[in-house]
Amino acid sequence: MWSAKVFTLYPEFFPGLLDLGIYKRARTKKIWNLEVVNIRNFAIDKHGSVDDKPFGGGKGMLMRADVVNNCLAENKNNNSTVYLSPKGKQLTQEMVKNFSEANGLNILCGHFEGIDQRVIDANKIEEISIGDYILSGGEPAAVVLLDSILRLLPGVLGDEGSLEEESFNNNLLEYPQYTQPREWEGKKVPDVLLSGNHAEIKRWRLEQSRGITQRQRPDMWQKYNKNKN
Ligand code: SAH
Repeated sequence: MWSAKVFTLYPEFFPGLLDLGIYKRARTKKIWNLEVVNIRNFAIDKHGSVDDKPFGGGKGMLMRADVVNNCLAENKNNNSTVYLSPKGKQLTQEMVKNFSEANGLNILCGHFEGIDQRVIDANKIEEISIGDYILSGGEPAAVVLLDSILRLLPGVLGDEGSLEEESFNNNLLEYPQYTQPREWEGKKVPDVLLSGNHAEIKRWRLEQSRGITQRQRPDMWQKYNKNKN
């Protein structure tokens, strides 16, 4: 069973979206489990404070090193821990795949202006960003991260073959797809897809993937061409 452990000031966020559909079913089938730890329970002073003003000045509050560290120390296991942070390494499908192949992951969610850097460094926690924008907390990012990992766990999706031809595998974006009706508001499905000629379909799809990647993602297109040679 793949184990997720989430450290958060807002446990109410969980399981949230992950308690629906395939994720709920997979949790019932014990493909994965979720433990949510409230960082606030590890506060030290009698007021239960978890944050304070940043040294050196600046806006907002930071989560305290001692409180977060207490929380991590009392919840240690054999899985690695990541901190969701806009200054982390940007999440890729390759990283997602690696996480899905481990036994689980501990996920630390920040709030306010973030977390005292000492606790991140002292615990050698990898920082991961889900993109170049700022959220108000790590919780939605944790849901994104978990969603991306969970769908790769064996038995979660109905058809595992569908994982093989997705965007980002082989540095190509997915080709366009079509379903019923064959003609919709005067627009037909490309003939080749109705031809039954699998080699032709494969060739057409690759051509489409290459075109889309070249147009939308010059960075990926460059990687694709480099890996091919
Ligand atoms: N002051 C920080 C932003 C703090 S945002 C900075 O400028 O870098 C508050 C919390 O939201 C962070 O601690 C982090 O856990 C989460 N967060 C915000 N944006 C995120 C992103 N793009 N990816 C992952 N986590 C993010």
